[in-house]
Amino acid sequence: MKKKFGIKAENSNSDNQTTNSVDMAIQWYPGHMTKTKRMLVTQMGLVDVVVELLDARVPLSSRNPDIDTLAKDKKRVLVLNKADLANPDTTARWEEYFQNLGFFALAVNAKENDKKKSGTNHLTAILQNVMKEKSKQQQKRGRINVPTRAMIVGIPNVGKSTFINQLAGRASTATADRPGVTRGRQWIKVDNQFDLLDTPGVLWPKFEDKIVGLKLACTGAISDNVVDKITLAGHLISMLMEIDSGALVKRYGVEGGALEDIGAARGFKMKGGVVDIERAAIMVLDEFRGGKLGRISLEMPE
Ligand code: GDP
Repeated sequence: MKKKFGIKAENSNSDNQTTNSVDMAIQWYPGHMTKTKRMLVTQMGLVDVVVELLDARVPLSSRNPDIDTLAKDKKRVLVLNKADLANPDTTARWEEYFQNLGFFALAVNAKENDKKKSGTNHLTAILQNVMKEKSKQQQKRGRINVPTRAMIVGIPNVGKSTFINQLAGRASTATADRPGVTRGRQWIKVDNQFDLLDTPGVLWPKFEDKIVGLKLACTGAISDNVVDKITLAGHLISMLMEIDSGALVKRYGVEGGALEDIGAARGFKMKGGVVDIERAAIMVLDEFRGGKLGRISLEMPE
């Protein structure tokens, strides 16, 4: 999927890890946004339920600011995806948090092949529950077996395609194109219970919020090609020092979290024995994203 936005570090200063975060501005291309929004509204018109994927490590930052308006007439389910990378206790608290707000919420690892371990199988049960009312009404009208139709939505890289593939992998049959639906759009019948639109709805993040941008860049949701990696890693390390400083000590054997110390511990030396802190920054970011520092959530419920 083409990335529709990027994040740019303005006035980045690679000598200083702690400044400039707040100078980061996510660039959004309005042309894309209009088209994306229009497509989303069309897609939503076809379904009963909107299944919104969030990143379990940053559930608030990975939420779309406009989804409550866009999906206001729909049944809603929240999926905390990438739960394998997040702190399990924190994820359980997030589930409770969203349930208290009136959502159906579940934690999932869309990459896990074992469906019981993945958490994905709970979606079918939740959807059955969500749609009970509709089925009752339809049965009253003498209509039976009218399928529940659902779609997946979420910001880029949250795992929409992976999740759809996981659901489709155990789908019994792909149903034929429906009349009135753009050619090529397919419905996937999942567990003989609901029809899933095979194309996810792409949402945009809260791109005007710089802290949100930083957290999304740390998780890899936003392409970091235009981000100063040393600055970004510096921010990640600051967050980690507050949340779970033991994780850095355990992984790199250094206290304090300075990139220079981490790089030195790994033997990242340039000519003249100077520590290559950019290499250290890239490694810390990669290892955090890959879960090598442990299962760490960057956001907790209040
Ligand atoms: P999309 O842009 O929302 O469709 O996201 P993708 O499905 O392409 O996933 C983005 C990246 O996240 C890919 O590298 C996936 O392998 C990875 N990913 C998706 N779901 C999970 C998950 O539950 N756990 C982990 N660890 N990685 C995931």
